[in-house]
Amino acid sequence: MYDYLVIGGGIVGLSTALSLHQKYPQARMAVVEKEKQWASHQTGRNSGVIHSGIYYKPGSLKAELARKGSQSMVHFCQEYGIPHEVCGKVIVAVDDTEKENLTNLYKRGLKNDLAVRKLSKSELLEIEPHVNGVEGIRVPSTGIVDYQKVTEKLADLLGDRGVDLLSSTKVTNIEEDENEAVVDTTRGTLKTRYLVNCAGLHSDRMAKLAGMYTDVKIVPFRGEYYEVKKEKSYLVKNLIYPVPNPEFPFLGVHLTRMMGGGIHAGPNAVLSLKREGYHKLAFDMKDTVDVLSFEGFWRMAASNLKEGMKEMKRSFHKKSFVKSLQRLVPEIEEDDVVPTHSGVRAQALLKDGKLVDDFFVFPGKRSIHVCNAPSPAATASLEIGKVIANKVPSVVTTKMYM
Ligand SMILES: Cc1cc2nc3c(=O)[nH]c(=O)nc-3n(C[C@H](O)[C@H](O)[C@H](O)COP(=O)(O)OP(=O)(O)OC[C@H]3O[C@@H](n4cnc5c(N)ncnc54)[C@H](O)[C@@H]3O)c2cc1C
Repeated sequence: MYDYLVIGGGIVGLSTALSLHQKYPQARMAVVEKEKQWASHQTGRNSGVIHSGIYYKPGSLKAELARKGSQSMVHFCQEYGIPHEVCGKVIVAVDDTEKENLTNLYKRGLKNDLAVRKLSKSELLEIEPHVNGVEGIRVPSTGIVDYQKVTEKLADLLGDRGVDLLSSTKVTNIEEDENEAVVDTTRGTLKTRYLVNCAGLHSDRMAKLAGMYTDVKIVPFRGEYYEVKKEKSYLVKNLIYPVPNPEFPFLGVHLTRMMGGGIHAGPNAVLSLKREGYHKLAFDMKDTVDVLSFEGFWRMAASNLKEGMKEMKRSFHKKSFVKSLQRLVPEIEEDDVVPTHSGVRAQALLKDGKLVDDFFVFPGKRSIHVCNAPSPAATASLEIGKVIANKVPSVVTTKMYM
């Protein structure tokens, strides 16, 4: 019998496991991951940006945990020698019509306690000489890191603490009562006094298996990237972002220097017909029926049809994708970019068709479920872990707690 069992070997699951074990060092704990490798899904397929927290509504969990989390992430990387860089980024208004939204974003940055700076056109060009912009914002606390490396370090630390790390083990059923959760896996049945669900793209299904009913469903949105060819990588020094449309804040491709080298452009956002579908034509019947039979999806689709079509066009039509990049850096041409990896976002959607904006965590009888941890959850992961560890009751039968 375990005291705590965490489902999900992404950065949120492993950060939570570490915080829990730091709080209850005597706890018998396990992390269960269906893939052979840690960080196989969202965590290992993202933009690798340590976000500052500028975009998020002041007072939201996202704003608070991104700000604190970006600092903890940098400290963690410093402590364990994980390559990272706090290089800062610029957000660019490409014409006068974007100035108002840029100013509103700048004010939001100040409200979120960030040391943001407004940039004139000439100041912008000093930082990013090839950018097209009439004004900008510099966000100095933004950084870059490889989240796969961070996750692997978290796994090492958990292994050193004696936590059972059960990879290649898929959870297939959960029975929960007042005292324990019985978790069936592809490698046998495990019992735990308390269960933590950090299953990302499958977190709503895990919650349902545990008997929890909510009106949210995970809808998978694929984000596709291009890589800028080496000989043109001089066009981007660090990170260049567009001003987000306040109605669709997670749309808008950006240019990002990657920690492993190279410049990535993207991601777009298209509905994926498979939760872990990394190719344009990836399809899974169960995942597709799940989305199409959800009334929230149709409501969202009806009110966002135009933007959805634009994203689809950008996905299948390289020229359209490159056009979005040229708004930011006009010298980039179609031949300068080649397709590279993609990732799928686990975005929770409500029955009324609205996206769940903030991180969403709720308790069961003997469990807690993280059912919305999209960007900036990799940045915020160490802080999300602490928040969850503080929400989880003490169930350890031995006496020594920290
Ligand atoms: C394209 C893209 C770009 C992004 N860019 C950034 C960025 O630059 N900065 C940032 O901070 N955030 C970014 N994000 C968001 C960030 O990557 C995620 O918020 C974060 O990785 C979520 O971590 P997680 O552990 O919750 O999920 P995941 O990494 O998806 O981990 C969940 C794990 O649960 C496992 N699992 C699922 N079902 C089961 C089961 N039945 N049994 C056992 N295991 C199971 C999965 O295999 C998976 O490994 C981006 C996301 C995407 C998709």
